[in-house]
Amino acid sequence: MNSVLVRYHEVALKKGNRPYFVGMLRRNLDFSLRDLGLKEIRRLPGRLLLNFGEEANQEEIGRRIQRIFGVANFSFVERTPPDLRLLKDRVLASLDGRQFSSFRVQTKRGDKNFSLTSPEINRQVGAAVKAKSGARVDLENAELTISIEILPHDAFFGFDKVNGPGGLPVGVTGRTLSLISGGIDSPVAAYRMMQRGCRVIFVHFHSSPYLDKTSQEKTRALVQLLTRYQFFSRLYLVAFGEVQRQIVASVSRPLRVVLYRRMMVRIAEAIAKKEKARALVTGESLAQVASQTLDNLAVIENAASILILRPLVGMDKQEIIDQARRIGTFDTSIIPDQDCCQLFVPPHPATKAKLPDVEEAEARLDVQALTQLGVEEAEIEEFRFPD
Ligand code: ATP
Ligand code: MG
Repeated sequence: MNSVLVRYHEVALKKGNRPYFVGMLRRNLDFSLRDLGLKEIRRLPGRLLLNFGEEANQEEIGRRIQRIFGVANFSFVERTPPDLRLLKDRVLASLDGRQFSSFRVQTKRGDKNFSLTSPEINRQVGAAVKAKSGARVDLENAELTISIEILPHDAFFGFDKVNGPGGLPVGVTGRTLSLISGGIDSPVAAYRMMQRGCRVIFVHFHSSPYLDKTSQEKTRALVQLLTRYQFFSRLYLVAFGEVQRQIVASVSRPLRVVLYRRMMVRIAEAIAKKEKARALVTGESLAQVASQTLDNLAVIENAASILILRPLVGMDKQEIIDQARRIGTFDTSIIPDQDCCQLFVPPHPATKAKLPDVEEAEARLDVQALTQLGVEEAEIEEFRFPD
């Protein structure tokens, strides 16, 4: 079977946006599968048909499609002319070598002018399968489901439907800039934005030369993993050591983390403007650590005017960990590193930073110059999947 039928969630589609949505889905499928012998993508009513060359690697194709947001489900299918006798012959031939003791046939007729109704097609194909295989028909718990679709110019049949990841095709809802740390949370936050149709650009703050480069290496590895879901990523690496040095020189210990965060948000906002990204994304989750109290989140947010999204704000750590495992980032995230926010901060930072105190402390810094420095000296790297 060298074709795949990809179905998308109609419910998520407002009528006017549908062509755009389907166009992006098609583009993303093309990006992701081109190197696996994808020959063409055809638009059929309510679905896309992907035709591959002769030696399609079903396993890898399936793995990739399961990472393409907007796909509700898909199945490997074989195409035949819309003629019942031919269809029956092809179904029987493709059963060679399959073991099953019960089966059912499910037909959907997209072409209402076809000479037979769906139940009649089920009955006729079912009788032929039964005669050949000796298996019994079981409508409730069949071991094998044979799905048939009749469209105006083609018929398709296939066996198993596989669930896709749902969501919206990457790109349809706009661009966001994700603050990614190398930890467990921020890669999950970025993933959740991609699932909602965002193209995510990344920014990472590092403290080299004060700390080693593990956090940068981890971040690169995480961005590469996440690029499997959006096919192309850009990462800004911002040297943050000088900002931290100046904060440490003039600000008392308990407020430092909040000041670091405010500077991160300012630099990120400037990068977002350059990249035409509409929002920042963080992996913050309410009260998970001292810097993530309602008071502190409000004071951090106050440093920027751009929208800040926190997709994990209401999630428990365990839920976040479970998702990190599913998307494949967990093992990289837990590699020990030196995180820039641990540099020169006390074990118990302020949990209730007050804006006037923070502003007074910041008055001793040249905030604008430091922001500009961060943006100007940022290094940019690009990632692709497949490479
Ligand atoms: P994570 O698991 O994502 O590291 P965390 O639980 O360690 O999060 P914090 O250290 O308070 O929590 O960081 C909160 C958020 O701030 C991170 O999720 C990330 O979005 C952003 N952030 C923190 N440190 C960095 C960094 N070095 N570079 C970029 N973003 C960062
Ligand atoms: Mg962290």
